[in-house]
Amino acid sequence: MDFLKPRYTPMSRRRRIYEGKAKVLYEGPEPGTLIQHFKDDATAFNAKKHQVIEGKGVLNNRISEYVFQHLNDIGVPTHFIRRLNMREQLIREVEIIPLEVVVRNVAAGSLSQRLGIEEGTQLPRSIIEFYYKNDALGDPMVSEEHVTAFGWATPQEIDDIMALAVRVNDFLSGLFLGVGIRLVDFKMECGRLWENDMMRIVVADEISPDSCRLWDIKSSEKLDKDRFRRDLGGLLEAYTEVAKRLGILSEGERPQGGGPVPVIDTGPMTVEEFYAFTDTRPDEEKWELIEGEPVLNAAPSDMHQWIVKNVVLALGIRERELNAPWAVLPGLGVRVSDKDRPEAARPQ
Ligand code: C5P
Repeated sequence: MDFLKPRYTPMSRRRRIYEGKAKVLYEGPEPGTLIQHFKDDATAFNAKKHQVIEGKGVLNNRISEYVFQHLNDIGVPTHFIRRLNMREQLIREVEIIPLEVVVRNVAAGSLSQRLGIEEGTQLPRSIIEFYYKNDALGDPMVSEEHVTAFGWATPQEIDDIMALAVRVNDFLSGLFLGVGIRLVDFKMECGRLWENDMMRIVVADEISPDSCRLWDIKSSEKLDKDRFRRDLGGLLEAYTEVAKRLGILSEGERPQGGGPVPVIDTGPMTVEEFYAFTDTRPDEEKWELIEGEPVLNAAPSDMHQWIVKNVVLALGIRERELNAPWAVLPGLGVRVSDKDRPEAARPQ
């Protein structure tokens, strides 16, 4: 394997609030916030099937960020605040409603099995279904009657959830259609967000190829978790394809291995932890710490080196003219905060 493996993992400093099958929630930096960490674990059939697929968490973090940020931008409220690093995002703490809300546009999966409708059949209209989130029971499908009778959500909340589901479905259908992907169905979760005494329902959890069925429009190739559920292989490649089409990953960039941007699987680091980490790396590797995330620099381009040369030359002339007590040296690490140590030209 040619990708970089972490040899150093910073001590866990954060309180773990909850660990699910594919994500971990940690206490956030401020009250009312949490950190959502995406793991590489893939599970299906109520965790009876399990595999670690290196790089999946990184891709889901990026794809879910993209979706949630756009939902926020068009006024669909979500728990998402911002992405923190390759595997983590800052979210608002919400009271999760124990329902999986599935929206279907095309027959597939459990709907096809239950009702004997051939997979791929366009549905007469979008259908919203509720499943009770309960692993022990295998997330059974429930009706609105169950939801209100058992107090999982009020009738008003169900209305709000359905309105959100329709908006998310319209947004996602258009988003994916624009990049040659058919949104067959997806699952979303909602939470109650309390602001002072006001409560509103927001979209929570994640929206990624783990929770959507995404088919290539032309070939009907599956670009989602069904590749894992149905042992089709190529899950990471499929998720990478979705990310690339959305313009999240540039051509040639890969989440793990082989690509020009290696990934190290650590949480956010301080500058001290970063120095301890770089001590373990070969001398020829040039790392920077950006917002607590170690980033390995690619070899500089011609253009970059021309700019460095021009800047150093111009400042060097000035330095001599002034007989300055300082010197400009390129390529030195500068500690600008507890979490940032970029490479820069630094006056001495
Ligand atoms: O299996 P089923 O056909 O009911 O799944 C409908 C949609 O909900 C699929 O996109 C699937 O990925 C998603 N789903 C999910 N988590 C579950 C069950 C379904 O993300 N626990």
